[in-house]
Amino acid sequence: MFAVHVSRLGRVPEPDSTKPVLAVDVDGVISLFGFEGPAENAPCKFQLIDGMAHCIAVETGARLQRLLPHYELIWATGWEDRANEYLLLLLGLPALPVLHFGGAARFGSAHWKLEPIGDYAQGRRLAWIDDSLDASCHEWAAARTEPTLLVQTDAAVGLTDAHVDVLIDWSGGHV
Ligand SMILES: [Mg+2]
Repeated sequence: MFAVHVSRLGRVPEPDSTKPVLAVDVDGVISLFGFEGPAENAPCKFQLIDGMAHCIAVETGARLQRLLPHYELIWATGWEDRANEYLLLLLGLPALPVLHFGGAARFGSAHWKLEPIGDYAQGRRLAWIDDSLDASCHEWAAARTEPTLLVQTDAAVGLTDAHVDVLIDWSGGHV
C-alpha cells in the first residue's frame, strides 16, 4: 500500500531516495533578520505568522524551485509543520517532508538538528542550508560516511543564486 504523511495542506509524497537530500532551514535562509536600515527598505515581504512579523524573502521561492529537480527537499527548521502551513503559497513550493525536534529547537543554533537530519538522510548524500552552522555541525558532516555539503547563509541575505549554483553542481557530483 502507498503510504503518505498527511499534513494539513495535503499529501507529502514518500521520499525519493534516488536524489540527494537537501535539508532547508527557514530563519536566516528564507525568513531574514539582522539586516541594516529601516524596515521599509528590508529585502523581503513582511508576513504576520502566528502573531509575529516575519521578513520573508519571497525570491528564495524561485531559487528553491530550481533545486527541486536535483534534490529531495525537506524542512529542517524550528518552524516544523508551520513551514508547510505558511510558506508554500508564498514560495510556490509543494508540501515537503518535515523533520520534528521534540521541543529541542533553539533559535540561533543548529546542533539539535543533527540527529533528525542524520536519521532521515541515512545512507544518502546530503546538503544542508542553514545560517547557524557551528563547529559541531562541521565535525558531524565530516564524520558522515556519505558525501555531505554544508551551505552557510548570511541571515540578513538568505539563500542566494550563488548558493543555488553550488548546490546544483554538487548534486551532480561536479564539485
Ligand atoms: Mg536558522
